[in-house]
Amino acid sequence: MKIIRIKYIFTFFLMLLGEMPLKSAVAVEKKIKVVTSFSILGDLTRQIGGEDVDVDIIVPENADPHIYEPKPLDVKKLSQADLVIVNGLGFEGWFNRLIINSGYKGEIIVAANTVTPRVLHMSQGVNATDPHAWHNVKNAILYVTEIKQALQKKLPEKKEEIEARAKTYINVLQELDHWVHLQFNNLDSHLRKVITTHDAFAYFGAEYDIEFLAPVGISTDAQPTAAKVAELITTIKSQNIKAIFIENLADGRLVNEIAKEANVEVDGILYADSLSNPSDLKAPAPTYVEMIRYNTISLHKKLTS
Ligand SMILES: [Zn+2]
Repeated sequence: MKIIRIKYIFTFFLMLLGEMPLKSAVAVEKKIKVVTSFSILGDLTRQIGGEDVDVDIIVPENADPHIYEPKPLDVKKLSQADLVIVNGLGFEGWFNRLIINSGYKGEIIVAANTVTPRVLHMSQGVNATDPHAWHNVKNAILYVTEIKQALQKKLPEKKEEIEARAKTYINVLQELDHWVHLQFNNLDSHLRKVITTHDAFAYFGAEYDIEFLAPVGISTDAQPTAAKVAELITTIKSQNIKAIFIENLADGRLVNEIAKEANVEVDGILYADSLSNPSDLKAPAPTYVEMIRYNTISLHKKLTS
């Protein structure tokens, strides 16, 4: 407390000396620390929180959120957090244990809280929820609304600034959603089929009318059966499917083998569960909007070639 008071007095003197504008002085004092489970939520939170938040992510850009193993540094990040944001829908299976270990007692926001989940009816009456809701841009808008409300609650004095940033960003997302629809508008129905590594694009497919097939299910740790792989090869051949993609994270070896067997070339990467690393300046998906644009352009190019 004493340190904070000294910092305030020092800031005040800097302002008196004209060394520091009032706005940035206040911003420095009011920043909150938000921890998000993975990179896509990190970007959405930065877009809305702007200079009022410091965002840390748990699963780094080049790690798979389905099978992530938390590190001691993650416990430290959570123990210092003012707010925690997760996707929900069963995506972060490792999260509860990490939260208990960290001692974090604050609020946990589920970004997908108001999304209509896609529920898969598996064998023997077991249901599984598909967590990849962010690939439908309309769902990302629901995520943004959840995050906005949580940030406004934490920072009531910044309510208007957060509202303005969210409004601007939602406009960008609405335009993006419209643009994705436009790309696929005139595509024949027999061309709307794509093979990917794991079943991550069903929300995208449902919204933009593309059928995605994958040898691996909604989690990357699932093992495909030989029968499922054989069935997929038959489907690729019989329906003349040309669009076969691997993903930025999931192991592409199986898809490469399937493509070889079906005599089709794999020539693209889709970003499924992570953005590209921001330090890699040549990588195409450092933000959510760029990820959706990159995936859409890659799919469109292949489906119309
Ligand atoms: Zn996934």
